[in-house]
Amino acid sequence: MRAKDSRKMTSIARRINRHHVADLFWTLVFVNITILAILLTVWCYTAEKGTLGHQWIPNLLRSIEWTQNKSFSDTLPTVYYIFSLPQGEAYRVYAGTQLMVLYRASFFIAILEGLTLVFRWRKGKGQTMNLLSPLHKMSETAEQLSRAGFDEQKYHDLEDAIEAISASAPDAKLSTGDSDLLGLENAVNNLLTRMHENYRHQIRFVSDASHELRTPISVIRGYAEMLDRWGKDDKKILEEGITAIRIETDNMQQLVEQLLFLARGDAGRHQPQLQAIDLSKLVHELYDEYAMIDQNHHWRIQTEASVSADADPAQLKQAARILCDNALKYSGTDSVITLRSFVNEHDEPCFSVQDSGVGISSADIPHIFERFYRADPARNRNSGGTGLGLSIAKLIIDRHKGYFKVISLEGVGTRMVVCLPKKIKPKDTLIPETLMTEADKSDKHSES
Ligand code: ATP
Ligand code: MG
Repeated sequence: MRAKDSRKMTSIARRINRHHVADLFWTLVFVNITILAILLTVWCYTAEKGTLGHQWIPNLLRSIEWTQNKSFSDTLPTVYYIFSLPQGEAYRVYAGTQLMVLYRASFFIAILEGLTLVFRWRKGKGQTMNLLSPLHKMSETAEQLSRAGFDEQKYHDLEDAIEAISASAPDAKLSTGDSDLLGLENAVNNLLTRMHENYRHQIRFVSDASHELRTPISVIRGYAEMLDRWGKDDKKILEEGITAIRIETDNMQQLVEQLLFLARGDAGRHQPQLQAIDLSKLVHELYDEYAMIDQNHHWRIQTEASVSADADPAQLKQAARILCDNALKYSGTDSVITLRSFVNEHDEPCFSVQDSGVGISSADIPHIFERFYRADPARNRNSGGTGLGLSIAKLIIDRHKGYFKVISLEGVGTRMVVCLPKKIKPKDTLIPETLMTEADKSDKHSES
């Protein structure tokens, strides 16, 4: 703040504060006079009733009497209150004692009120300065803008520079070469960079999607031609062709469904309908499902008694199935796949899927959640993968404000952990307790 501005601010604040203190002073004067009047009235009333000894009479003749002395404090002890019935006897009640008490008490009250006013004066200035600071900032900014001398030519330069930006050019940038417009230029350029980034993503997504769809279409066409030539007579070729076409159409259907899911997710749909669920229950359901449909692996389960989370059960199961599908797809026959639910060290509810399969190289780990990314495209194509599974799972977990943790070693296996935000709930209501079958317990002991 410049010295001149600071002085201006201080003087405005002082004026406002003076106003406040003056208001407070007159309020105190009014309150004091009112209290004094009430006290005197009550005293007179009590004196009249005490002396006359019956009902209070409003139309008495009332006056006061005192002896003139040099000072006010010497006069007060000589005061008498006099009252009488219209044609009756006059009564004199001594008022000096009470008036002296009031006089002395008023000294203390005046000192206290004086101190309050001083305190208010000193503190009020700082408070007013604080209250005025946003106004000051506004006036400073307005002054800066007017000092900037934003002439008409600058508007035209800016207009020309914006018109010169090509929407499709990837490195399009707004540049006027004017230092006054630098802030505005940076904001526009950041926006352009984000727009181009999105544009590139969209283009890549569409081209990857068409590429993925082209392969099954070519396969189907190849088999259709083969059937046309030889399939009518050769039953073996007919069956082979029909099976291949069915597999490819299944792949295509899965791909189209995945693409639709992602497109809807990008459009902001699929908002999870959160409800309180138990992750251990979800993991048990998955275990039952996979142990039944997949006889080629040994499915294991380790769950804590209750792992409460707020989640959309259908969506969370969809994400968990993607991880289970990967675990069984990328691990050899007879290997062990373990499903877990637990509360981690940050009190977050988590579940994990662990396999002892091919693993993911450290170079691939940062990319596996990208759309259409496959660590080994040739191998994955054979296994029917499109590279969209994990991006869908991530979309779901992101929507739940959760996160993934990937631990993987090539040739050893992969552990995919999903953690959700911790529930706002007293910690002691979660009683971790491991429920395992005997086989699982022995597995766990051998692990440790
Ligand atoms: P799909 O869309 O059918 O799921 P996908 O399995 O190839 O296809 P993602 O599930 O997104 O695609 O996985 C991306 C890549 O990450 C996989 O291609 C694979 O290379 C690697 N990957 C994922 N999970 C595992 C795992 N458990 N073990 C080894 N590699 C994995
Ligand atoms: Mg997958």
